[in-house]
Amino acid sequence: MVQLPTVSAELAARGLADFDRFRTLIAELYPLVAEHLEFERVGDLGLLYRWRGRGDDDPVVLMAHFDVVPAAEADRWRMPPFEGRIHDGAVWGRGTLDDKGPLLVVLEAVENLLDEGYVPARDVYLSFGGDEESFGGAARGIADLLHGRGITPWLVLDEGGAVVDAPLPFVRVPSAMVGVGEKGVLTVRLRAVSEGGHASAPPRLTAAGRVGRAVARLFPNPFRARTPLSTRAMLAAFLPHTSGPARILLRVLAGWPWLTARLFSRMGGEPAALVRTTVAPTMLQGGSAQNVLPAEASAIVNLRIAVGETVETAVRRVRRAVRDPLVTVEVVEGSDPSPESPVDDARFAAIRDAVAVAYPDAITAPYLMMAATDSRWFARYCTGVYRFAPLAMTAAQRATIHGIDEHVTLDSLERGERFHRALLTGLPGGQ
Ligand SMILES: [Zn+2]
Repeated sequence: MVQLPTVSAELAARGLADFDRFRTLIAELYPLVAEHLEFERVGDLGLLYRWRGRGDDDPVVLMAHFDVVPAAEADRWRMPPFEGRIHDGAVWGRGTLDDKGPLLVVLEAVENLLDEGYVPARDVYLSFGGDEESFGGAARGIADLLHGRGITPWLVLDEGGAVVDAPLPFVRVPSAMVGVGEKGVLTVRLRAVSEGGHASAPPRLTAAGRVGRAVARLFPNPFRARTPLSTRAMLAAFLPHTSGPARILLRVLAGWPWLTARLFSRMGGEPAALVRTTVAPTMLQGGSAQNVLPAEASAIVNLRIAVGETVETAVRRVRRAVRDPLVTVEVVEGSDPSPESPVDDARFAAIRDAVAVAYPDAITAPYLMMAATDSRWFARYCTGVYRFAPLAMTAAQRATIHGIDEHVTLDSLERGERFHRALLTGLPGGQ
C-alpha cells in the first residue's frame, strides 16, 4: 500500500492509475473481503464496501483515506518514503500512520472475521476516500449517497486521535484519545485597494499598509475562550488516573471550565487551540515593484472555528476586529464546527470496550479535534461520529505525520486489528 504513491495533491500530474491500483490491491490482499462484501465505487475516488449483518439495525461505518500528502526525496527520509521498508519493528513510509495503517487494520480485522465465518450483528460499511488530503469530495459523496438511501449510521469511526503515552504534560497515562467533535475551518481574504502612484509621496495608508494594519488588529485573538463539553469530559476521564499535584490541578480544571479556558488560552499552541477559535494569517500578496504604490493588497487568514461558533459569527467578529470599511473580508472557504458526539452512551462504550481488549493499559478519553476529517460529512446527519485510529503513536511519531520518517510499529498494527475485531464482534443488535 505504501509503495503506491497515492498523492492526491499531485493527482492532476500523476493521474488516477495508482488510485485505481489501490482498489485492485485491496482485492488481491483481502480476497474474502472482495468475495463477501458488496462493492460500490462512488465517484473516481470513493470506495464503499458493505458487509451485510444479521439484523437491520442502523449500520456502522468504518472510514479511512488512502491518499497521502507528498514526500520529497530531498527531505532526506531515513527510509525511502514510498518503499514500505520494514525495519526495527516498524513499517516506514508515507501514509503508514496517515492513513493507510488505520485503513489496513480495518481490512485485516474484517478478513480475519470472514475467515472464521463471522457475520456482524448489523451492517458494516467500509468507506475509503482517495482525496482527504486535498479536501476532495469522495467521502462527501459516500455520506450523501447513504443519506439519500435513508441510511443513518449508528456509529461512524474515522481517523483522528490515537493511543498516546502522555495526553497532557501532567497526565502520563497511556490514553486512547477519541475525537468526539472537530473544529470548523474558515479561510478569509482581507483585501484593500488604493490608487497607485510613486512611492515618494504616499498617502497615509497604502493598500499594503491597510492590510497590514487589518492583520495586526486580529491580535490579540478577538475570540472568546470557552471550554467545550468534550474537554471537560476529557479532564474528568484523566482524573482517576493521576495523583498528587497533577490530580489537584485536574480536579480544579474539570470543576471550573472558565478557569480552564483562561489558563489554556494563556498557554498558547495546542491548549489554546482547544478552547478558542484560532487565527493564523498564512499568505500576503500585493505590490509589483519596490518603489510603486500597490493598487491592491490582500492577506489570507486561516481560522479554526471553535464549537459554539459558526462561519457567520466568526466572519462578523473578524470584521469588527479589523474595523476598517476600506478592507473587505471575503470568505474563501468555510465549514462550521461539527457537533460533539455523546460520550455517555453505547457507542462511546463500544469503542472503550474495544480499546480495553487491544490496549489493556490504556484509558479511553474523549477530546476535541483541531484538524478536519472526512467524517465531518457524516456529522451533518449522524449523531455518533468518532475519530480514532487504534494505533499507538508517540509524540515523536505524531510529528512525522505530514513530515518525514513516518512509521508505524508492527505491534500497534496487530493491536489495531484486535481493536476492530473486538469492536465488530461486540456490536449490539441483530436480535
Ligand atoms: Zn489523514
